[in-house]
Amino acid sequence: MNPQIRYLILALTDRCNLKCSTCYRGDSLSLEDMSGDTIRQSIHIAATSAPSFHLQLTGGEPPLVPSAIETAVKAVQKTGRCQSIGIQTNATWLTPSIFSLFQAHQLKVGVSLDGPPEIHEQQRGMAAETLRGLQRLENAGISFGVTRNLFVMPAALRAWQWIRKEIYFLAARPWEIRHFQPAMFGNPDSKRCSC
Ligand code: SF4
Repeated sequence: MNPQIRYLILALTDRCNLKCSTCYRGDSLSLEDMSGDTIRQSIHIAATSAPSFHLQLTGGEPPLVPSAIETAVKAVQKTGRCQSIGIQTNATWLTPSIFSLFQAHQLKVGVSLDGPPEIHEQQRGMAAETLRGLQRLENAGISFGVTRNLFVMPAALRAWQWIRKEIYFLAARPWEIRHFQPAMFGNPDSKRCSC
């Protein structure tokens, strides 16, 4: 019996407008977008393996490839088996067409934020744009969550407290650790996309 695919992750593009210190994306020499065929075939495989599944769109930075997002959304709609669609973003490239896609398809948006502007700026850059992106999502009534990487525990705790205190519309939201992945530092081979 074949295993059921309940959680499908599609990295729609290698490209990103940021170059985070821990991410290999900025080092990649060949920056490719996932083809429409690969997107459709992957979704077909998931949909024929299980009665329902979650689709998670990631990158690189998915909002750089709105046509790939549309291809994925259309393909899952045809299956009738997709429970939910999530998308991860650094929130610095949220064009009107991306907002429309988020709203039209009720995508579950996850924004990567590392904490206070100085920490985020150090690790990712464009901190002001990310905070502006969060505010724009809030103003547009788009449901989103904040995901963050905990690099150094004391700093992580302070960063967490800062986010809850300073970003007023996040203060009342529940928090949870969904993904805990210890990582090695000082080894270039350990670089990974940390969205
Ligand atoms: S971690 Fe995410 S936002 Fe940062 S460079 Fe990598 S893909 Fe871009």
